[in-house]
Amino acid sequence: MIESEHLYIHVPFCIKKCRYCDFYSKTDLSLIPDYVTALVQEIRLRSQSTVSQPKGNAATVYFGGGTPSLLGPRHLEAILQALDNAFSLCRQTEITFEANPGTLDDIHLKSFQGMGINRVSLGVQSLDPTQLSLLGRIHSADDAVHAVEKVRAAGIENISLDLIYGLPGQTEEHLIRELDAALDLTPAHLSCYMLTLEPGTALHVMHERGKFLPMAQSDQVDLFRAAAKYLKIRGWDHYEVSNFAKHTSLRSLHNRAYWQMVPYHGFGPAAHSYAVKSDTDGSAAYKRFWNAPDLNGYINALKIGDLPASGSEILTLEQRQMEYVMVGLRTSMGLDIRTGQNLWQNRFLTVFQSLMKNLENKGFARHLDAGQRFVLTLQGWMRLDSIVASFVERI
Ligand code: SF4
Repeated sequence: MIESEHLYIHVPFCIKKCRYCDFYSKTDLSLIPDYVTALVQEIRLRSQSTVSQPKGNAATVYFGGGTPSLLGPRHLEAILQALDNAFSLCRQTEITFEANPGTLDDIHLKSFQGMGINRVSLGVQSLDPTQLSLLGRIHSADDAVHAVEKVRAAGIENISLDLIYGLPGQTEEHLIRELDAALDLTPAHLSCYMLTLEPGTALHVMHERGKFLPMAQSDQVDLFRAAAKYLKIRGWDHYEVSNFAKHTSLRSLHNRAYWQMVPYHGFGPAAHSYAVKSDTDGSAAYKRFWNAPDLNGYINALKIGDLPASGSEILTLEQRQMEYVMVGLRTSMGLDIRTGQNLWQNRFLTVFQSLMKNLENKGFARHLDAGQRFVLTLQGWMRLDSIVASFVERI
């Protein structure tokens, strides 16, 4: 069978680092042209060597970062052309472009739409000036509102908004006001992330110096429940712990590939890839590999025609089982019992039956589709970490 391809492009540039963010990015924008040249070369080289043949059309492309909206039309055109040569983009390909509301240009947006960008994920994060300032964002709440208008005026209707909640002092009323303000912008999709303190970020340093006191996790969980209930009443499809679609047809196809552990190709510094290959003895090898988070090294290697420094690992059966549980329990599709039985060589039910029954009795989970899928309820998602831990300790 010819598989559809899922492609991720990491654009490692930001105007300024946000206080909470640990994604790999650099603020030296003068390197963008060299990065684009290197990226096009990487796509070409990898499509000649590692990418499986024969290929189907690309099902999804996701420009993430960093700040993809710092790319100009000529750069984006070169990248899309390279992807098309290697993977065949088509009108049905979901092409998502992450954008920072502080970096959107109307004319660029129109060109992007003409090149096939059909989904924009806007890093709004908050519509409250105080919260935006605490997060260290470069944009204002008004910028976010105007960004949505600009994207729509460019002819792109499939708009996702990223929001962050759980900042110190945030109340349920405040969160609902934030959600209301976001819903007023009539997005197709919302990603609502709980603020987490990542090592190496400015917020983490502030915390160590006693200048930032994070919200207690139990309070964050209360906010999670409030947001989920509020959006559910308004008809939103809560299809992954942090993700909501206006309609099931507007779920992110690209993220679904990650959640279903489908192979994908990642390009750019720090990008990860996942591949399933036939081993010499005919068995399947599940490989994860990644480019080093090193923009200069990436550019220099590709300048002389080498692939950039990278790391890799072959996933053991236990690792795949763990990922299956960790990712599956986050989604409204849950765990598919048949897939579990395959992955556990028919022992899935033996290993997990009593745990699943126990969770079901407590109202944290239920079976759907005539018992073929095991899905956490909202009460279960509120205890996701400990439930995942209970599964993992049985692996
Ligand atoms: S949150 Fe986005 S814009 Fe801010 S530093 Fe991270 S990648 Fe850049």
